[in-house]
Amino acid sequence: MPEPLYDVTVAEIGGQRALIVQPSIPDGASDALKNGLAIRRAANVTGHCPGCGARVQMPNRQQRRAAARTGKIIHLAMEHEHGCGALLDGDEAA
Ligand SMILES: [Zn+2]
Repeated sequence: MPEPLYDVTVAEIGGQRALIVQPSIPDGASDALKNGLAIRRAANVTGHCPGCGARVQMPNRQQRRAAARTGKIIHLAMEHEHGCGALLDGDEAA
């Protein structure tokens, strides 16, 4: 059976409950890929990147209320600093 590509984590970010779909860390991955995915996973569940200090950009109250009213999912973004290990450029698989 192939390894799962993603898993789901429930966390609290900025006082809001969040459902996070994250890439799994493959057993056979390179150390660089494992490290990058580990940094990214930690950032995703805490809202704070341990690699570069970036913080997730939370929606404001109006956006959160609108999403709750309409049942829409809010997508959060985190902009990592250049050189952060969480930024995977595809060369890590080797
Ligand atoms: Zn980062």
